[in-house]
Amino acid sequence: MNAVVDLVIRGAQVVSGSAIYNAAVAVNGERIVAVGEEALMPPARQTVDATGLYLLPGAIDSHVHFRDPGYPRKETWKTGSAAAACGGVTTVFEMPNTNPPTGTIEALRMKLDAARSSYVDYGIHALFDDSTVDRLEELLDAGATSFKAFVGNTFGNLPAPTDGALLEGFETLAARGVRTVVHAENSSIMARREMRLKAFGRTDPLAHLAARPAVAEIEAIGRVITLAEWTGARIHIAHHSSADSLFLIRDAKRRGVDITVETCPQYMLINTDHMKKLGGLLRLNPPIREPRHNEPLWQALKEGLIDMIATDHAPHTPEEKTREDIWACDCGFPGVETQMPLMLTEVNRGRATLMDYVRWSAEAPARAWGIWPLKGRIAPGAHADIVLIDMNRRGRVNQGRLQSISRISPWHGRTVVGMPLHTIVRGRFVMRDGELVSDAAGWGASVKPIQQMPPAIPRNTDTTTRAIATRPADAPASSRPVDGVQDTLWADESYLHPLAKSGH
Ligand SMILES: [Zn+2]
Repeated sequence: MNAVVDLVIRGAQVVSGSAIYNAAVAVNGERIVAVGEEALMPPARQTVDATGLYLLPGAIDSHVHFRDPGYPRKETWKTGSAAAACGGVTTVFEMPNTNPPTGTIEALRMKLDAARSSYVDYGIHALFDDSTVDRLEELLDAGATSFKAFVGNTFGNLPAPTDGALLEGFETLAARGVRTVVHAENSSIMARREMRLKAFGRTDPLAHLAARPAVAEIEAIGRVITLAEWTGARIHIAHHSSADSLFLIRDAKRRGVDITVETCPQYMLINTDHMKKLGGLLRLNPPIREPRHNEPLWQALKEGLIDMIATDHAPHTPEEKTREDIWACDCGFPGVETQMPLMLTEVNRGRATLMDYVRWSAEAPARAWGIWPLKGRIAPGAHADIVLIDMNRRGRVNQGRLQSISRISPWHGRTVVGMPLHTIVRGRFVMRDGELVSDAAGWGASVKPIQQMPPAIPRNTDTTTRAIATRPADAPASSRPVDGVQDTLWADESYLHPLAKSGH
C-alpha cells in the first residue's frame, strides 16, 4: 500500500531540457517522489489539476541584487524574493555590492541574516577584490557559494580587482573548484571615456553607451579567460551584452576552459532605439547596445555558446532612474519578476522551444553553481522546485503591480503571452493562482549545504602564490654570483665550432 503524500499535480505537460511529456508529479515534504502516469501516483492530501498547463523546474536566476543590507529604499530580501516567487524563480544568486559589501565574514553574516526573510532559495556571491583576496576561503567556509569580481565598475563603485589579485584569487579558487562571476568590462577605458564625455558636456542617454564601448567587454573577457585558463579557475561571465565578444567565448569553450555565460532579456530584446525614448530608465551596465547585437546574442543562446538566462535584477527608486542627466541616473532596473513572461512570449513567437527555455533558465544554472541534480530538474529525489505556467495567458507588464519596491520597469506596457501561475519552492507554494503566498516569507534557504561543485582541476600549481612562498630546494640561498664562477662557468664550450675554439 502506498503511503499518503503531500501533493499530486495532475494533468500537466512536464518539460525538461530534452522532452515534453504528459505526467503527474507527486511531492512529499520538500522532494519530488514520483513522476509518471496519474494512475500510478500515491494518494495525496492535496491534488492540483493542472490540465492545460506546463510544469517546469523553477527558474534559477544567477544574478540578482536584493540591496539588503544597505539600501532598503531600493529593495529588501523580502520584496526581491517575492518578485522572484511571482516570476516563477525558485532560486536566486545574490550579488555582493550591498552596504557593507559582502567581503568580510561580518558582512556575509549580515547578508545571510537578511536572507532569512526570503521566499525562495538562494546562494550568495561574495566579493572578490584586492581587499578580500586573502580571505576567499574563509568566506566560502562561512557560507558563500561563489564569488563576484567587479572587473568593470558599476553601482556601489567597488574598485576593480587588479590583475595580480585576480590571478592570485583564481589560484585559490581553482583549488576549491568554485566559480567566480565576472562583471567583464575594462574599468580604465570606461573611466577615461566617461571623463572625456563629461568634459564635452554630454549628458544624453547615449553618452552612457559611448563610455562603455564593446571593446571594453572584449578586453575584459579576454583577460579573465587568460587568467582562468592558466589557473584552472571556473568563471562565469555576467550579463554578456555584445555580439563582438562572442568569438572569445567560442574559442575558450573549444579549448576546454570552464566558462559559463549568462545574458539577460534586455540585451536580446532592447537596443539603443529604446534607449533614445526611455533614457536613464535603461541605464545599466554593460550598456544597452545597438540593434545589431540583439539577434547574435539570441543565436548564441540557441547554440549553447551562452548557457543561460539571468536578469541582473537591479532595483532603484523611480526618482533615481528618471533624472535629467544620464550620469545621475542609477544603473540597473528590476527584472526577476518579468524574465519568465518575456521569455515565454518569445517561445510563443516560435523563437525557441520550452525545452530550450528549461535548459537556459534551470538546468544550466543548476549545473554551473553545483546544485544539480537536486535542483533544475523534475525527477524523483529532486527538490520540489516547480513552476506551473499557462502558455495562453496574455497580459501586459504593469510596473505598478510589481512585487519589487522599484516600481519602474522598461517593460511597462509590453504585451506578454505565457505566464507563471503557481510557484513551488521545496514543496511549498510561494505563489498560487498568480498571487504571492505571503506567509511563505522566510521559507527560502541557502543552497550552500547542497552545493557540490565538480572536482577541482587546478593548473600550473607550481607557480601559484602559495607555491612560490618557499624557496625551492635547487634555488641558491644568495643572489650574489658564486665566487670565481665567471672564470670557469663557460670554460667547456665543446659545442662551439672548432674554428671558434681554436681562436681563428
Ligand atoms: Zn548586476
